[in-house]
Amino acid sequence: QVVFEGVNKYFGENHVLKDIDLGVEDGEVVVVIGPSGSGKSTLLRCTNRLEEIQSGDIRLEGESITDDRTDINVLRQRIGMVFQHFNLFPHKTALENITLAPTKVKGVPEREAEQKGRDLLDEVGLAKKADAYPAQLSGGQQQRVAIARALAMEPHVMLFDEVTSALDPELVGEVLGVMRGLADEGMTMMVVTHEMGFAREVADRVVLMADGRIVESGDPEHFFTDPETDRAKQFLSKLL
Ligand code: ATP
Ligand code: MG
Repeated sequence: QVVFEGVNKYFGENHVLKDIDLGVEDGEVVVVIGPSGSGKSTLLRCTNRLEEIQSGDIRLEGESITDDRTDINVLRQRIGMVFQHFNLFPHKTALENITLAPTKVKGVPEREAEQKGRDLLDEVGLAKKADAYPAQLSGGQQQRVAIARALAMEPHVMLFDEVTSALDPELVGEVLGVMRGLADEGMTMMVVTHEMGFAREVADRVVLMADGRIVESGDPEHFFTDPETDRAKQFLSKLL
């Protein structure tokens, strides 16, 4: 569960997150959409404190990310993040990419991490690619390894930032399929995407951002067929 309360974020003079209030319940899938520069990535990056906020609060399972008593490194282990540009370690195999953090950061025994890593590769449909290096994998396969790597830390929440945007169109489906599977298993997810089909089918809630604000938030079916705000209508009309 993630709660944003009155969150404001500035880059210098640029006010990029404006009074953001948002609650993501356990097991909920919130899809964040909106035009370029509206603050979607910044919202996700603030969640694990890759960016500092200037006011308001973000709480993960009741624990404030800005509290001095919060160990941000421990808290980050509970947040899995996958970006547009899968940054796998090029000199490590798919399996090694996955086992690295659990063994080094969490002290999971090598054997146990490997077994778990193989299970995860199986889950993302890459059981046969354990020993492949990133360069030997397609973009879609690399992105699925990146998701498995994030899952290996057993996060409570997964954040996805345009994970399919850099992929060839025919590879998008396999990655969205993995995300849909995760959603079905009850993972709590915040997903920034331009894939409106995914938003409509998988999201429990769609959040539209524009100019640093949440301008509309609601049930996907309702949002896509009968949006409340002019801003949402305008955004949707540009997609068609
Ligand atoms: P896109 O759809 O293009 O990814 P976005 O909704 O993710 O856009 P953000 O990347 O969150 O938008 O950017 C929001 C605003 O913050 C923009 O005005 C951007 O220029 C600014 N911004 C983002 N990152 C930085 C940074 N590191 N330093 C300064 N300004 C930044
Ligand atoms: Mg972005």
